[in-house]
Amino acid sequence: MRLDDEAESQNVEDRRGGFGGGGFGAGPKTIGIGTIIVALAASYFFGIDPSLIMQGASVIQGQQPTQQQAPPQANRAPATDQMSVFTRKVLGNTERTWEHVFETQLNRRYTAPTLVMFSGATPTACGTGQSAMGPFYCPGDHKVYIDLAFYNELRQRFGAGGDFAQAYVIAHEVGHHVQNLLGVSEKVDAARRRMGEAQANQLSVRMELQADCLAGVWAAAAQRANQQLLEPGDIEDGLRAAAAIGDDRLQRQAQGYVVPEAFTHGSSEQRVRWLRKGLTAGSVRECDTFAARQL
Ligand SMILES: [Zn+2]
Repeated sequence: MRLDDEAESQNVEDRRGGFGGGGFGAGPKTIGIGTIIVALAASYFFGIDPSLIMQGASVIQGQQPTQQQAPPQANRAPATDQMSVFTRKVLGNTERTWEHVFETQLNRRYTAPTLVMFSGATPTACGTGQSAMGPFYCPGDHKVYIDLAFYNELRQRFGAGGDFAQAYVIAHEVGHHVQNLLGVSEKVDAARRRMGEAQANQLSVRMELQADCLAGVWAAAAQRANQQLLEPGDIEDGLRAAAAIGDDRLQRQAQGYVVPEAFTHGSSEQRVRWLRKGLTAGSVRECDTFAARQL
């Protein structure tokens, strides 16, 4: 991606290194409880199954206080570090792009989310956010939460590097914000509460695939506004990332077998298909995963 000319977003809270400072250092028990709350409401995580978060959480609880989880150098991390600048620029682009898409396609006004950079753990309106969950969006406070170390994980653990893969992560979470603004999140949450688990999971999958599609709409519209933004290979990086975090692939990695009823984000194939659909169509209307017969 070419982001040289992109203005950085001002809607960023940098909480990196803040966890060890004392204000929020209540210890691992608090984190466990928060994790359970967040995991139960887990339809907004980037690609990590809630049960995997719970496993990760119990591992953390068995260890020494969580302060040790935070990298020692995280305190007072300068806001000029490369990954932070990248994130601010991509977020800035999503603001300008979605403002335009809302105006031209939906005849509505876009209000931007805040992005919180954190390391280790941080309080959110959805409970305690933890790095192990991967990036997520909390509809309750309109904030996207990300530990920038996830970019490394994406590359090393999921084999999905490249700056557009990282941008897709942000765009997917911003996609959840768009769903929140459009009232989709609220409807889905209400419907999920009336359902059994398998049905609720199916609804989560449609929600997640829509966020993937909206990430594609963003990229298409951003490219239309600035033809230089995407470079050869970028789209492939994004599609590779979408494939890498499909539920089937994650489940196979974590437990060795696949349970489709437990999918909450969609299979690799579905995630690629909907990201591609958004990219190709460039239109919010094409992202109606709830009406789609075939995902
Ligand atoms: Zn998501």
